[in-house]
Amino acid sequence: MSGKTRNLPASFMTKQDNNQIGAIQIFYHQWIGIALLMAVVIWFVWPDFRSLSQPAPAWYWLVGGSFIIRYLVLWADRRLFGLRRTPYIARRALWRTISPTISLLLIAIGFRELCQHNLFGFGWLFLAGVIVLGAIALRQWAEGWKLHRVRGGSAYKRAQILANLMHVQLNRIYMVPSERGHLTQAFAFGKSIGLSENYSHSLQGAALDFTVGHELAHIRQQHGRLRMLSIPSFYLGASLACFVHPALSPRFRIGFDLIVMLAPILASYHLLRRGEYEADRVAVELIKDPEAAIAALANIHHTAGVPTRQDPVAGLFMTHPSFPHRARAIARAASMPDDLFETVIRETYERLREADKSETN
Ligand SMILES: [Zn+2]
Repeated sequence: MSGKTRNLPASFMTKQDNNQIGAIQIFYHQWIGIALLMAVVIWFVWPDFRSLSQPAPAWYWLVGGSFIIRYLVLWADRRLFGLRRTPYIARRALWRTISPTISLLLIAIGFRELCQHNLFGFGWLFLAGVIVLGAIALRQWAEGWKLHRVRGGSAYKRAQILANLMHVQLNRIYMVPSERGHLTQAFAFGKSIGLSENYSHSLQGAALDFTVGHELAHIRQQHGRLRMLSIPSFYLGASLACFVHPALSPRFRIGFDLIVMLAPILASYHLLRRGEYEADRVAVELIKDPEAAIAALANIHHTAGVPTRQDPVAGLFMTHPSFPHRARAIARAASMPDDLFETVIRETYERLREADKSETN
């Protein structure tokens, strides 16, 4: 993306408030997630890596260690930071250990079996896929989600109107109660969309249209189906590379293993981020107001306490691009002149700083 994003302020937050703590929390959660993922990759590349037919103590260390680290991080969120989004610590640590740590270990076992021309490797990959899908349901259980179907209210009516405008078949609209401390968010699944309750209350006008339009775009562009087809095919491609690869000297073998493990992971995240850019673009075309879209996006980050700048390496492992990248992409899609973009961004930050001040007064 454009280098111009470097001029943006590091964070919306000017005070040591909850949002700033939230930003710090999200930052270290991201890095711990990446470190645990890399632990599996490094163990796979390690010459002593064993397939399941020769179980190694490192399996137990990886799985047990992942659970303990996840648990301690969530515990620290509650005890040290007093954050609200921390119920169900053990469940959530368990969920995050099952996917991605255990699912990734199964993929590594599958790859190793296939490298040894054992077709049972495909079975391990299939099992990993089932676990990842199961983890989506497990996540709802772990976080105590309760989806409430709504049939009225301003967000409901607006979503129906926008769905008609976009020729999207919208089956259901759900609200997630926010009192249990969930992340502020909006999401699409199947032909339905969901909004967290606290989030939907803070949205109106163009911001509501942009947010709902973004989720409807995910449905219209069939991003869910694309994900279900593409991500397994990335792993299938890597597993075939394992199966047909020529005998390699240990030096090249490490590089090959690294590529085989990392390529499908990075390709999957890239695909998800591309979907986010596309949904933003469709939503902006819908509301025809890129300035309002950027302001809405800034508000989402602010309300959810998501940091506005992202480490470029961490960004490779994220499902969503950072705010500066998304704002720049929106401006580009709408052919917004550079100087107007800089002004919009400056004014957006000023408005949010004012909102912070009035909140803390
Ligand atoms: Zn999205």
